[in-house]
Amino acid sequence: MNNELGRISALLKGDRPTISFEFFPPKDDLGFENLRASFQELKKYSPDFISVTYGAMGSNQERSLAVVAEFSSQVPTVAHLTCIGSTKESISNLMTQYSNMDVAGILALRGDIPSDFLGAPLGDFKTALDLVDLVRESNFEIGIAAFPEKHPESPNLQHDLAVLKLKQDSGATFAMTQLFFDIDTYFNLRSSAEASGITIPIVPGLMPIANVKQVMRMAEMSGAKVPVHLVERLSEANDELSSREIGMEFSVKLAKDLIAQGAPGIHIFTLNHHKAPIELLKATGLA
Ligand code: FAD
Repeated sequence: MNNELGRISALLKGDRPTISFEFFPPKDDLGFENLRASFQELKKYSPDFISVTYGAMGSNQERSLAVVAEFSSQVPTVAHLTCIGSTKESISNLMTQYSNMDVAGILALRGDIPSDFLGAPLGDFKTALDLVDLVRESNFEIGIAAFPEKHPESPNLQHDLAVLKLKQDSGATFAMTQLFFDIDTYFNLRSSAEASGITIPIVPGLMPIANVKQVMRMAEMSGAKVPVHLVERLSEANDELSSREIGMEFSVKLAKDLIAQGAPGIHIFTLNHHKAPIELLKATGLA
């Protein structure tokens, strides 16, 4: 690792909760303009770091790099990197490009095969563990994904924990979670991880429920269970404004409880917007 060794894990192990934001690469120039505007608004809240997603199997990867190139000089940036369908050579080339930017860390992921790529060559990597091994050679701090409700392909949480431990032993120094709504799943993951010798900080990923339909779609795609009481309350809402209020109230409580019970910080999935993340930070007392 370079001399910024462990910058992200040091922040996550610090004595105050971290604030961080996830962005995705926009589809077009207008989307980029909107993202820039959101980024500038969110920057005012002094995020500890941000992260930028990366589409598996080629989708919008150039723009992901462009976002990382632009933002990493302003805020410590974790670049997500997927390996499914990639060759070792293409990943090494990317590492060289990231070395020329001020990238704070790489989130080493397998990625999922998009439906229109099913049957395409899978490349040189079977799992994210292979990527962790390659990224380690490039001296970047390495983050990994964690799944409070277990990874959909895993037989059980114990299997996921064994994989997390292998990745930690291979050099990963922090983990970020998948979207979840049930706080018990996060703290259960944390305590089971500790019992399995996993000591790296696991920062919870939180998506403010502002656009309820969009968040519910993301929940379905990721397999995150939505608590029955939230579904019931949302079903009573008469219009979008009142469902937004119910959703945000739920998100604020989740964020407050996470921090109160010892989460290292909150990684906010912004969906490239700034209003709901700022509302969440203010209501949680983090801003
Ligand atoms: P892996 O670690 O490879 O795990 C996949 C499956 O294989 C799991 O069931 C695991 O238990 C199993 N496994 C792994 N290694 C071993 C082993 N050695 N032995 C046995 N079993 C093993 N996707 C994107 O395309 N772009 C993104 O930017 C992106 N960002 C994400 C950010 C976060 C915080 C999270 C949680 C997910 C993100 N994803 C992203 C989605 C992610 O790529 C998928 O969830 C993918 O299915 C799993 O990725 P992984 O890195 O955990 O894979």
